[in-house]
Amino acid sequence: GGCGATQSSLMRARMRLSLQERLWEFYQTRVNIPAEEQAMARRAALDICAELRVFLHAKLPDMPLREMYLSGSLYDDLQVVTADHAQLMVPLILEKNLWSSIPGEDTIMNVPGFWLVRRENLEYFPRSSSYWDRCMVGGYLSPKSVLEVFEKLVAGSINWPAIGSVLDYIIRPVVPSETLTLEVQYEMDRKLYVDFLPLLVMEDGTSLIAKPHRLSAERNENLWRQSFRVAETARLRALDQEDGGCRCTCLKVAKAVCKLSPALHRLNSSQLTNTILLLSETEGDWTQEALADRFLQLLRALVGHLEAGRLPCALGPKVNLFCELTEQEVDELGYTLYCALSDPEGLLRT
Ligand code: GDP
Repeated sequence: GGCGATQSSLMRARMRLSLQERLWEFYQTRVNIPAEEQAMARRAALDICAELRVFLHAKLPDMPLREMYLSGSLYDDLQVVTADHAQLMVPLILEKNLWSSIPGEDTIMNVPGFWLVRRENLEYFPRSSSYWDRCMVGGYLSPKSVLEVFEKLVAGSINWPAIGSVLDYIIRPVVPSETLTLEVQYEMDRKLYVDFLPLLVMEDGTSLIAKPHRLSAERNENLWRQSFRVAETARLRALDQEDGGCRCTCLKVAKAVCKLSPALHRLNSSQLTNTILLLSETEGDWTQEALADRFLQLLRALVGHLEAGRLPCALGPKVNLFCELTEQEVDELGYTLYCALSDPEGLLRT
C-alpha cells in the first residue's frame, strides 16, 4: 500500500545520497550525543567526584594530592554515540628534589612517550621522607603500586552502596579492570564508567599518567605514560577555530565508526586526533563541504601509517602511537580500513 510506496521512494532517495550527505546524516543521528544526555552523565560524574574528595580528605588528610578533577571527551564535546565514560584525574604532589623523570628513550626499554620516575637523594632523605616512597619499586615510583593504593581505598573501604543510595545511583568498582574504574548506573538504562587516573605534572609541564603500557607489562611495569591529550585536543580545536573547519566533526565521525565496529576497536582517539593533525600540516581545505574528502583522506592516511607500523605523535614525533599494537592487530586494522576505502559507506551501516 501507501507505506510501501513511501518506503521505496525513501530507499531511492537514500541511494542518491552522496557520501558527504551520509556522513552528515550519520553525524546527526548516531555520532552526536543529545545535550541533555551529556548533562546527566556530567552530573553523575561530578556527584561521584565530590563524594570522593570528601572521603579522601577525611580518611587520608596527609596524602599529598592536588584537587581531583574530571576530564575527557565528555568535557571537550568530543564524546560520541553515548555519554558513557569520563576520567577522574588524581594529581599527586611529588617533592621536586626527591623525584626526577627519565625519558623512555634513555632507558633500557627504549620507548619514547613513556617515562621512569626515579627517587633521588635517598642518602640524605631516606625512605619515607616522601609520602609516595611507599609506592617505590626498585628505586622508581611505580604507577602500578600507586594504582593499588587507590584501588584498596576505592574498592575496599568506601561504602559505595550507601553513597549510591544517597545519590540515587548504583555504583560499583569494576573488577578486574586494567585501570581503576567505577561503574555508575545513573538511570535505568544508562551507565557511566569513571576511570581513576593518577597523574604527575613534572617541573617542565610534562604530564605523566598511571596507565600501564599494554604490552610486555612486566618489563614495562614502572613506566609512566606521557599524556599529550590536553595539547593535542587544544591544537585540533584551535585549527578549526581559525578556519571554521570540520576537523572535530571528522574526528567524531571516525571515533564513532571505531566505537561501533568491533574490527576497529583498537584505534583510539589519540591516534585519530594525531592523524588529523598530521594531515592538517599538508591539507588546507577543511571546510564543511570537504568532510567526505577529508574523511576518505583520513582513512587512507591511517592505512599508510599502519603499513609503516608507525604513527608519529604530532606533538612529539619520536613517539610511535602504534607501539602498543601487536603486529597482528596492525595487519587486521590495516586490512579492515583498506577494504573500507572502496566502500566507506559500509562503515556507517554498523
Ligand atoms: P574517548 O575516550 O575515545 O572519548 O577519548 P578521550 O579523548 O576522552 O580520551 C580518553 C582516553 O585517553 C582514556 O583512555 C585516558 O586514559 C587517556 N588519556 C590520556 N591522557 C589523558 C588526559 O590527560 N586526560 C584524560 N581524560 N584522558 C587521558
